[in-house]
Amino acid sequence: VKRVDMTGRVFGRLTALEPVGRRGTNVTWRCRCECGTEVVAAGNDMRAGLKQSCGCLRRELAKRTEHGHMVGKKPSPTYSSWRAMLKRCYSPRNRSYADYGGRGIIVCERWRSFEPFLSDMGDRPEGTSLDRIDVNGNYEPGNCRWLAVGQQQWNRRCSVLSPQLAQEIVGRHEHGESMASIGRRLGINRFTVNTVVRGLAWSSVTGVVSRRKPTRTRDAEMKRKHMEIAR
Ligand SMILES: [Zn+2]
Repeated sequence: VKRVDMTGRVFGRLTALEPVGRRGTNVTWRCRCECGTEVVAAGNDMRAGLKQSCGCLRRELAKRTEHGHMVGKKPSPTYSSWRAMLKRCYSPRNRSYADYGGRGIIVCERWRSFEPFLSDMGDRPEGTSLDRIDVNGNYEPGNCRWLAVGQQQWNRRCSVLSPQLAQEIVGRHEHGESMASIGRRLGINRFTVNTVVRGLAWSSVTGVVSRRKPTRTRDAEMKRKHMEIAR
């Protein structure tokens, strides 16, 4: 049996201290790990790079893979958003697929892994959702933001729609996004979206020409629902 003196040699985080026994034909070594733990490991495993720590290295790597954003079965808000983004673009069974993957919206290669996405976007602030600035653009750095859709902002937007928002609604609608989706993404109730899309409001800004006058009843109904929701 060939004996290799490994005393004092370093393998990853392990430093070989002294031979302590045998495992089959291999010599086992008492080692000290960088973290301070002592373990017994087979010399050939250490030389082959199969054993590099007391186990702390693997634990740390596993933690890094999970980013601490996927604890047990409950994902963090950021992780949920990342996963939902991929599903909208690549899972035809997703209810929003038609507005995303179905329209050719993709997730850039970098963001198909969670870590780069997290490092570019940061943690998702409470009450926000992932939004694309250019609705025809892809999910990629520079075209995404965490957009507040909190109840407060939602209500504010119901009562006061800015010219910019009116234009954004019409732009999104012209590019095929459904009214329900526009409402969800911008935090505007769908009656308001409908009103703008049909040119019944903000037409001087959006240039949308109303094709048909709404009936008095329909208009009143819309207004009533609008008030209900805004309240
Ligand atoms: Zn260790």
